[in-house]
Amino acid sequence: MSSELRVKFWGVRGSYPTPGAETVKYGGNTASIEVRAGERTIILDAGTGIIPLGRELARTTPALAGGARERAGEIMLLFSHLHHDHTQGFPFFVPAYMPSTKLHIFGPDGTHESMRNVLERNQSSETFPVGLRDMSATKDIQAVRESQVILWDETGVRAVESTVGLDNEAAVVIRIHKSYAHPGGVYAYRITWRGKSVVYATDTEGYVGTDRKLVQFAKDADVLIHDAQYLEEHYRGQLVGFPSTQGFGHSTVTMACEVAAASEAGQLILFHHDPSYSDDMVAGIERTAKSLFADSVAAYEGLEISLTPNPSPIGRGENVAVRLQSSAVNGRDVQYAQNG
Ligand SMILES: [Zn+2]
Ligand SMILES: [Zn+2]
Repeated sequence: MSSELRVKFWGVRGSYPTPGAETVKYGGNTASIEVRAGERTIILDAGTGIIPLGRELARTTPALAGGARERAGEIMLLFSHLHHDHTQGFPFFVPAYMPSTKLHIFGPDGTHESMRNVLERNQSSETFPVGLRDMSATKDIQAVRESQVILWDETGVRAVESTVGLDNEAAVVIRIHKSYAHPGGVYAYRITWRGKSVVYATDTEGYVGTDRKLVQFAKDADVLIHDAQYLEEHYRGQLVGFPSTQGFGHSTVTMACEVAAASEAGQLILFHHDPSYSDDMVAGIERTAKSLFADSVAAYEGLEISLTPNPSPIGRGENVAVRLQSSAVNGRDVQYAQNG
């Protein structure tokens, strides 16, 4: 059984999918990220990137591919919020059509509507040929609050009010930060497993002096995935042909770097690229980021990061049962690999 915490990017674009020659390098699918904690699969958001991910899971997960029928293929899906670019791939997610799949879906309720209602409405007969209820997978859809913690261990998946007394090294622990820095609100997630953690903070706009609550939430994360949709000049309305985007609920590359530096993250992954940006413009964002926070990478489809827990029991103070020491030199042992 794999003991790595792995992250793979399947959709990195914000707002709407952008096929074409100008976006080949970083990719044109909207937000979707696969996180593997050992054998457990957690998906962050269901933009169109979840469509190729679903095909891959249906092909390679034994329980889904028909190899182990006695056990359902369990998949957790976390919604940051319910805007189109984070949900539009779900109706095309192949495992959701397979009776051998058990989906645990968590996220926020909308301001005026429950999460379940929004997902059902996205697949009403007026808008899509297959209703949510007609997808064959078992679906456990649960809106969660910021105060709750989502756990996944040998006994299964559940949302709890507290992890006091939890002493289980095998548990995946997922904490929630509710941000108001995006229209309608958004959840950031912190996924921790065996002393390694990944923070996902998409669709958020920076504050003057940085977003202190987010910095606290992301403190010492090994990987911080942060919205970095805009070049500074674009945000300020100083780029010809690009009206100002202040207040739209997305960050500049500088805002993302400020959060990464203040939280002392191991790596910053720039995410939710503007759909109007060419590969050259995203590469420019990455250059700017590296000058502000050296360990920065602009997310691209196929980017993979592996975090290997060190078996030493001396820890960095991550709030899970087993405390594991990070690698000797700088506390990080991140590896990159390109795949697809
Ligand atoms: Zn978005
Ligand atoms: Zn949004």
